[in-house]
Amino acid sequence: MATTGTGRGAVTDAHTGWHCTNGASLLARITGPGLGRLPAEHGVIYVCADHQVQAEARITTAGHQPATDPAPPGHRHDPWPCGHITTHGETGPHLADALTTPVTVHFVRTVPSPETITAALTGLIPRALPDHMTAVLIETAPDGARHTWNGSLAGLAQRIHTAISHTTER
Ligand SMILES: [Zn+2]
Repeated sequence: MATTGTGRGAVTDAHTGWHCTNGASLLARITGPGLGRLPAEHGVIYVCADHQVQAEARITTAGHQPATDPAPPGHRHDPWPCGHITTHGETGPHLADALTTPVTVHFVRTVPSPETITAALTGLIPRALPDHMTAVLIETAPDGARHTWNGSLAGLAQRIHTAISHTTER
């Protein structure tokens, strides 16, 4: 954990300790009471789709409200690794310290949204922009013939979402 600056201008960087090589396609923001109303008092955990639940659990356990959004396009050009924590303000070091403490997560399995699936697929190519990605599937048949399908990531994510929904919900 490292803090630069002082007072409201202080910025503290830390890490959750996860060993994750995914780029962080999501930002789990730390919001809620006790942090003051200034955005500068808040912080964020940079997180992949696989670790979203854990990031939100840590924020909740630290006594704050998580709000997770896709990382902005500019961030995707230069992504932080999953698990990087940045907090702001005088309470930043205390908050970062709380967020580095592992918590036990009890998973409730829900069907991931098409947006979450799209974020996971986008993470396959570091720094990729989802709107600029195309999914290509290639079948090489035993006789060497090739058949391909291509389409948008959003379309593929929707198809996966629908397939999972049908197998999960009776
Ligand atoms: Zn991760």
